[in-house]
Amino acid sequence: MQYGLVHIAAGDLLRAEIASGSENGKQAKEYMEKGQLVPNEIVVMMVKDRLLQPDSQENGWLLDGYPRSLSQATALKEFGFRPDLFIVLEVNEEILVERVVGRRLDPVTGKIYHLKYSPPETEEIAARLTQRFDDTEEKVKLRLQTHRQNVEAVLSMYEDITLKVNGNLRKEDVFAQIDDALTKLFEDRKLNSGSLAA
Ligand code: AMP
Repeated sequence: MQYGLVHIAAGDLLRAEIASGSENGKQAKEYMEKGQLVPNEIVVMMVKDRLLQPDSQENGWLLDGYPRSLSQATALKEFGFRPDLFIVLEVNEEILVERVVGRRLDPVTGKIYHLKYSPPETEEIAARLTQRFDDTEEKVKLRLQTHRQNVEAVLSMYEDITLKVNGNLRKEDVFAQIDDALTKLFEDRKLNSGSLAA
């Protein structure tokens, strides 16, 4: 990944747990199928353990899909993890649903495609693409409901470090907005650590 950060997606951790066949995975799947938040007893420790791994500690991390509730944000703080930036991707519902329904995963490379906006490069890849069990119009609408119930409370924890990004634009233009902010952040940090070391 650009910037060298470790990408930690709460949903990916949960899907790996389901794939492992564990009891936690079985329980998590029931909530995920309803578009509801998986209970903190399962999610919080999972994310904490991943953040504590040496690669995250050394390179820094990008947390994706976490925290999704005030209690998760509080837990993160209590464990001593403080994000430098909180990025909110704002996308119109219609666009969001279209992106989710057309989303596909290449299980071999882990790359995410979109049937219309980012189609697979070859027939061979196209033939092996898979779809998440919750990437249907019905399920994404349930996830959006859950999101609306929690977003204000989470935002209130990060007011001073929030960056709102227009997610309706093309992928390249969305990335440019985030890239600008991250580049500034890393430059500031270089300056600061330079002065600290001196
Ligand atoms: P995502 O991969 O981010 O779209 O998440 C897929 C599903 O995993 C969500 O609809 C939730 O059921 C569950 N999930 C992901 N992140 C969290 C979280 N931080 N807390 C609780 N459940 C989560």
